This record gives sequence, C-alpha cells and structure tokens, in this order.
Amino acid sequence: MIERLDHFMARANAAYYASRDPFADFTTSPEITQVFGELLGLWAAVTWRSLGLSGVVLVEAGPGRGTLMADALRAIGQAAPDFRAAMTVHLIETSPRLRDLQRWLLPDAVWHDTLETVPDRPMILLANEFFDTLPIRQFIRRGGGWMERYVGPNGFVEVSARLDLDAEEGAVVERCDAGEAFARFVGYRLRRCSGAALILDYGPEVSGFGDSLQAISDGGPVDPLREPGTADLTAHVDFARLGAASGITVHGPVAQGLFLARLGLFQRTNQLARGLKPREAMLVMEGARRLGEPERMGRLFKAMALMPPGAGAVAGFEG
Ligand code: SAH
Repeated sequence: MIERLDHFMARANAAYYASRDPFADFTTSPEITQVFGELLGLWAAVTWRSLGLSGVVLVEAGPGRGTLMADALRAIGQAAPDFRAAMTVHLIETSPRLRDLQRWLLPDAVWHDTLETVPDRPMILLANEFFDTLPIRQFIRRGGGWMERYVGPNGFVEVSARLDLDAEEGAVVERCDAGEAFARFVGYRLRRCSGAALILDYGPEVSGFGDSLQAISDGGPVDPLREPGTADLTAHVDFARLGAASGITVHGPVAQGLFLARLGLFQRTNQLARGLKPREAMLVMEGARRLGEPERMGRLFKAMALMPPGAGAVAGFEG
C-alpha cells in the first residue's frame, strides 16, 4: 500500500492534533508574547474602520490554544469597542481537543470545520501558522519529467506525474492544494462581501524549489515518515501561489519583523514592560526581540494581506 504524501500528511496531522498538546512540542508567536495578538487585533480594527464596514465576522483559522484571539479581543475591547460590538467571532478548528482549550478563553466563539460554514458577511480573517500545517504534495524532477512522492512501508516511492514546469534534474517542488483552495475561497468571500485576510507564516517571498517538509516532536526534528500522529508535520508556505489563488489584491509578503515593527511591536512592549517587575519586563522584551529580529523569527516569517480589488492601503504594508 502506498499513499500520496498530502494524504499521509493530512492523516498524520489530524492524529497528532487530536491526541497531543502540540504546544509541548513547539511554540508560536502568540505564545511568546501577548503583544502579538494585541497588534493583530488592532490591525483588524484599523482595517475594519478603513473599509467602512459595519456588521462583520472576525474569523481565525487554526487558533491553537486561542491565545491570539483572546489577546486580540482584549485590545479591541479597549481601543475599538464599536468594532467589538459589531462582530461575531468564528474559529476554524478541526481538532476537538484544541476546541476544548479554546472554549476556556473564548466562550462566545462559534466553531467551524471549514470557512464555508462561516456566515457569508464582511469578514476579517486572521491565520497564524495555519497554512504551514496544511498537507502538501511533492514532485521530483527525473529524466526530464516529473515523479510524485508517495509514502510506502519503507519510505518514499516515486510515481510518474505530470507537471508543466521546467527544472534541474533532482529538483523538488511542493504544492499545497488545500492551502490554495482555502485562499481561493477567501478571495471569493472578500470579493463578494468585502473585508480582509491577514496571513502570517514561514516561507519564501517568491516560489522556488526544495524539500521543506519537516517533522517536530519534543522540540526537535524527527523523520517525517515516522508513525503518523507522533510528530507535527509542516512545510514552508508558498505565499506567491496563495496570493495568486485568492484572485484578489495581495499586499506583501513582508518580513514579520518589519510588519510587527510598523504596527508598534517595540513601543507596545516598552509600555507593557514599564508596568512589570524587572524579571517579567525582561521576558516580554525578549519575546518581542524573538519575533522581530531577522535571524530569529523576523525574516523567515512573513505577513501577507488579501483585500478586495480597489480597497486601498492597509496598515503594515506601506512602501
Ligand atoms: N495559530 C495558532 C496555532 C497554530 S498550530 C498559534 O499561532 O499558536 C495549527 C492550528 O491549525 C491548530 O489549531 C490545528 O488544530 C489547526 N488545524 C490544522 N489543520 C487544520 C485544518 N485542516 N482545518 C482547521 N484547522 C486546522
């Protein structure tokens, strides 16, 4: 029995997210500092206002522990109560275990398996480290043609495939059909009802070649093909293909460090630190540096916004 890589990855991640606390194995920006979710909440508020929207759905795809949305809603409640009053909160989450965690922090949210069941209304969508978990296919250049990687009992098996792309012998190219389908649907919704989507994740600015599949367990890399469900499988996000799939206006991608600095990462962190004990103040400053510094999460991570055509400028993507 062989299984296409994306099918294997979907099965492995569903088992992983259903049975483990992923945050024991890795950490994410909202878990590093509360300022991350606060800034994204303020971005949502500013964008909502600039688009002149009234009733709106605030949606998060892949909310993890619910930390980002909880921090965002707290900041929105303080800075833009009219936005808070105009929204309903929707979470796209397939893991029952993570839904239980999210319910603690976000009792008023509505849960969905897919974006399709979220009400058809103006929407602000946030997605941090969501697209990297969606299953990918891998193709490898062999003898002037392409083979696709399947997973067999003893590792990868190559099956002949068709791909209209030129590359050097041995080059690997990845495709995320699920991510592109999601972006296409976001584009459809935003064009119909207006709004904006903000995607943060890691990956290159332009599409390229290379095997980026990785598996993390207990904080370290492991064999991606080991027992499904025992490790978190991810791949780099192809922002250019996601943007193109949306069919609407794309802002960025820009480096996460630059994007967050423009939104006031360091000002907000300093303000927060002033009210803390020295040790806590150091931790919160260290968190901001970790997200912002280029050699840490500041450069590999990118931010990209999707907006309806003609919607104008959006915070964090100037210049
Ligand atoms: N955004 C969070 C969590 C990232 S982990 C953070 O930044 O901390 C990925 C999240 O996406 C988890 O909540 C996981 O359960 C969810 N997820 C993975 N695949 C999914 C899918 N196909 N549909 C919906 N949610 C999914």
